[in-house]
Parts: sequence; structure tokens; C-alpha cells
Amino acid sequence: MPVTTTRIGRGRTGAAFRVCEELPEPLLAPSGGTRGDGSPQTPAIHEARGQTTRRAWAPRRLTDLGAALAGLGTLLAATVAVASPWTAWTAWTAWTTRTTHAAPLTPYGVATGRAPRVVRAVAAENFYADVVRQLGGSHVTVVGIISNPSTDPHTYESSTADAEAVSAAGLVVRNGLGYDAFMQKLEAASPRAGRTTIDVGAALGYKTGDNPHLWYDPATMPRVAALVGAQLARLDPADKATFAANLRRFDASLTPWIRHVAALRARYRGAPVAVTEPVFGYAARAIGLTVATPLSFQLAVQEGNDPSPQDVQAEKNLLSGNRVKVFLYNQQAVEPLTVQLLALARARRIPIVGVYESMPPAKTYQTWMEAEIGALDRALGRGISTEKIA
Ligand SMILES: [Zn+2]
Repeated sequence: MPVTTTRIGRGRTGAAFRVCEELPEPLLAPSGGTRGDGSPQTPAIHEARGQTTRRAWAPRRLTDLGAALAGLGTLLAATVAVASPWTAWTAWTAWTTRTTHAAPLTPYGVATGRAPRVVRAVAAENFYADVVRQLGGSHVTVVGIISNPSTDPHTYESSTADAEAVSAAGLVVRNGLGYDAFMQKLEAASPRAGRTTIDVGAALGYKTGDNPHLWYDPATMPRVAALVGAQLARLDPADKATFAANLRRFDASLTPWIRHVAALRARYRGAPVAVTEPVFGYAARAIGLTVATPLSFQLAVQEGNDPSPQDVQAEKNLLSGNRVKVFLYNQQAVEPLTVQLLALARARRIPIVGVYESMPPAKTYQTWMEAEIGALDRALGRGISTEKIA
């Protein structure tokens, strides 16, 4: 389904993080035991994939989960000490149910403190999946749903396999801003107690109608990684230190790319470029490029519509008049019009750079971003075209 973007806004990168947590009612229920802070607890029972998973008690807020469920020993001791025989029985069956059925691949970490968990995660886009993988290492299994670099993500239709992956996940990452609306449908179709969703657009303070290609902004992924790291630590507290170390490594690994962006900004700020779509928009803004293509042209192409004849003429004039330094086009959405524009750019010896919406195979998020910035550098500095980086 095409995204219904009507304008490109500026990202409010200074906004506070927000994580959308889908809090299940049972986790919010008052309870029979007592927590460390003196507030009451109660037994809570969840149905999961036809198998009953019993939780002996539940904290009031999900954010308390990691600390509250620090160890099974503590759990049993507290339950036996203060609660009814029924509660004690529930605690016991919780232990046995988890040990025999749910561990070690319990989708979301109700930590027993006995063994490291493997958190099941799903990201709507493969670059967010890559970040989860880099943060979680062997402590996560992660599925990236949109991952084919030869198709247009804006028209992606989800499959049964996607629905199953979402159903089993304890952590979901989606871009939001209408880019991956299918995810909300999949999540709604398989509600799960305790599943946490990071909606990147909402968490970073963007609004519907903003350019959804957030991952091209150098400010985006450090913030996403911090959110992912915090959720992994909550779901698998035993490996908190590992996630923190991986987060530091991830942030450090972005430095060459961020420096390259800054270097291009110093050299080429204000340079006019033509594009087919807004996909590279945040990177262009970070470098300070002047995107000369009419916004209405970009949005029409992005949405799979025909741009107006005036817009098409304006775009062609940019190329035929050699008024731009580079022509950037979306490799994943090549229409007959794109083919015409590419021919025009070649005829005028305007360097061409192909950019991608999805992370190409054999790339990481970092190497992908660096490959595109490197291609742009060669185009601006030496007039060299790089139509494919994969
Ligand atoms: Zn796009």
C-alpha cells in the first residue's frame, strides 16, 4: 500500500524518546503477594499459542519486570512466605510450565535468573533487524520482514510467515509513520501479553506526514539502538552488561559514516542535486545538499502516481540543463520515467547514484550507509556514477 505522505517535515530530533508498550491487563492487575516496595501482587495467567503459561505474580508496571523478577528463588520464597496455598501452587506450576515448555526460547524474558534468555524479535525492516542483531548477538533471534532490495517496500504485503514471526515475538521494532502499517495489523491480530513495540517514528517524535525514511538521518540509529538495548536488558536482565557493551560498540562503529557526512557537508553544502523520491532526504539534509526536484514530484513517484507534466518538465530541465551535480534515484522503485531520467543524466554526463530503501544483502547498516555516502562522495568529487552498491 502506498504511503499517504503529504509533506516532508523536519525531524524533531530533540524530542524525548517514547516507547509504545502494549501493556496487557493481567500485568496491571492488583495482586495477592507483596512486592519489594510494599505494593500488592496477584497471580496472573496468560494464554499463549494455545498453551497456558502461568505467571505466579506480576508487577504493576512492565518497567518493573526486570528488577521484580530477578530470580525464581526469590519468587518462591516470597510467595510461600506471604501468600495463600493457591498462590504457592501457582508459583510452582509457573516454574514447571516455564521449565518444561517455555524455556529457553520464551519469547519475552520473564527472567528466572537461572540462564540467559534468547529474546525473539521482529523488525519490520531489515536494517532495524540488523541493529537488534548487533545489540543482542547470541541472545536474540530476529526476523527482518522487509528485506528484498529489488522490491518497493511501500507496496509490501505481509505473509503468513510474517504473522507467525510477529505472533512469537517479545520485541517488535517498526518504522511507523505509515511506512509499515501492515505491522500494526499483524500485532493486533496476535495480541500478546508483555510484547513490547518500538515505533521508531513515534519514539523519536515524528508526526504522520513526515518523511518516513528515518534511517538515513545520522541521528536516528544511535537513538534506536539505545531503545533496543534498554528493551533487551529488560527482557534478558542476565545479559544486561553484554547489551551495554554492544551498544557502545555499535555507537562507535557509526563514527566513520558520521564523519564522512560531516566532511561532505564541509565541501559540498548547498550543492544542487536531483532525486526521484524522498528516500535519501534526511541524508541530503545532513550534508546540506539542495534538493532541486519539486517535492510534489518526489511524493508522486513515492506513492506510485504520475507526477504532473509541469513537474516532469521541471525535473527533466534540471538534468538537460546540467543544473544539478548528481542525480540520485531509488534503486527499488524504477519506473519507465526513472529510465528516461537516467538516460537523460547519462547523456548530460551527470553522475548517478543509486540509493536503497532496504539494506542490501551482505551489508550491515553501517557498511550500507557508508557505501552510499562513499558513492555520493565519488559522484560529487570525481563525477563517478555508482548505480548499484550491491
Ligand atoms: Zn520510500
